[in-house]
Amino acid sequence: MSLPAGPDRASVARRSVGGVLGLSTLPGRRGASKDVGMTPGAARRKAPSRAKEQLREVLAKVESKNPGEVDFHQAVREVSRSLEPVLVRQPRYVLDKVFERLVEPDRVISFGVNWVDDDGEIHVNRGYRVQMSSSIGPYKGGLRFHPTVGPGLLKFLAFEQTFKNSLTSLPMGGAKGGSDFDPKGRSESEIRRFCQSFMTELYPYIGEFTDVPAGDIGVGEREIGYLFGQYKRIAKRFVGAITGKGIKWGGSRIRQEATGYGVVYFAREMLATRDDTLDGKTCLVSGSGNVAQFTVEKLLELGARTVTLSDSDGFVHDPDGIDRDKLEWVKRLKNERRGRIREYAQEFPRATYHPVTGGGENPLWSVPAQCAFPSATQDEISYKDADSLVNGGVMLVAEGANMPTVSDGVDRFSAAGILYAPSKAANAGGVAVSGLEMAQDMQLAQWSTEEVDRRLQEIMRRIHETVRQTAEEYDQPGDYVAGANIAGFVKVADAMLDESPI
Ligand code: NAP
Repeated sequence: MSLPAGPDRASVARRSVGGVLGLSTLPGRRGASKDVGMTPGAARRKAPSRAKEQLREVLAKVESKNPGEVDFHQAVREVSRSLEPVLVRQPRYVLDKVFERLVEPDRVISFGVNWVDDDGEIHVNRGYRVQMSSSIGPYKGGLRFHPTVGPGLLKFLAFEQTFKNSLTSLPMGGAKGGSDFDPKGRSESEIRRFCQSFMTELYPYIGEFTDVPAGDIGVGEREIGYLFGQYKRIAKRFVGAITGKGIKWGGSRIRQEATGYGVVYFAREMLATRDDTLDGKTCLVSGSGNVAQFTVEKLLELGARTVTLSDSDGFVHDPDGIDRDKLEWVKRLKNERRGRIREYAQEFPRATYHPVTGGGENPLWSVPAQCAFPSATQDEISYKDADSLVNGGVMLVAEGANMPTVSDGVDRFSAAGILYAPSKAANAGGVAVSGLEMAQDMQLAQWSTEEVDRRLQEIMRRIHETVRQTAEEYDQPGDYVAGANIAGFVKVADAMLDESPI
């Protein structure tokens, strides 16, 4: 598969303006119940005024049909805030109830996962796969193993993934899955047994042309190995039904690095719009897992200095900066010894360790810096944290984690006029290289490091350009949230129109 062109901008323009002309030639729109009985012309005239009302109705339905699933509500609310002008320009989106269809997962699969610990005790966890949308390609999205995993969290992540995958310009739909299994403190053999049981249950729902999972929190290359091994054992076929595979067994070069590198490439593009670079900038990074590690690595390469890292117990502040040797030490700590970030301050005494304080505030975000890369988890930047970042001199926030900033925190960034990249645009590099891994698997090929990195840089540059231009086209210049939501939506929505609702 050659590298596809960026989201189809010609098609955006065609559908926004001329697309209305095709309305009367549409097949019957049985989904548009409120407009039943109207002539096509009357329905078309009424659609723009229905846009706001319909977005409100969809949000209300999402809240009532998914009670208590606050992250999912926030994700849908944030996207809906950007969509009114799009729906006004393209009445077919209103008439065909595209947004209402998009917020309802195609299916939510739930299954029990029984496994046995090292003492012979049986444990029962719950596994899930939320297949949100396959309008533009096979379902695609990571697996998360964390005690907080449940249907609401996964619906939010699968919804976001649908937009992100659309922005990459690769043919991938949106999904997310995982389990409430907590890998912390589990032995190697317990992890292996859990992964094998999990895959035994997930197996019927995935495949290289149907749904292609990858890693996420708690699922790194080790877990992907066990999952893929079990998939192969059952399928009796070696196919690319999972991405994030090891380089010796069907993986892509740069996949491990892709999310972190991609975030930094995106930040570089944002700074370029203000004739600025990362060189010499002081940066805050949260988390210390896959995304955080490779964000720090690329920042170092581009001349920036990272002074923080964290895990769920607390954060370290190293005023001297995390250099290459220290980063290698962190990788060994987290990926091999599976230790805690507090050990960093024992190893490098100039650094200080700060345990989690709670109270809706994380003091990591009060450390003075110019750029911030939240790379741990959702909702890790509260309004107060956003305020601290702005007051501490931050002029760029690029999200490596999925939706790490709460809604009013995002508002604080936009009121301050800083460069703010939402996760669905900034962290799309990971899934983009997963898409490249799928392409290599189909060809039984393996591209060089330089080739994959070149493609990754090009994809991140195109995403940035698409998001920036879309924001301008909709009279919201510099608003990366609006640009990402609209551009991500239009491609999926157009596919939904073309494919017909039923
Ligand atoms: P990871 O390797 O498992 O690392 C996660 C890091 O975040 C760890 O340092 C972890 O600390 C910390 N963390 C997790 N839950 C936390 C919580 N509730 N409070 C505070 N810290 C917490 O995972 P990852 O792959 O780097 O993923 C990090 C984020 O990036 C997630 O939002 C993920 O969805 C997103 N993302 C990842 C990829 C990818 O390719 N991996 C792609 C796109 C987006 P502990 O060890 O203490 O739990």
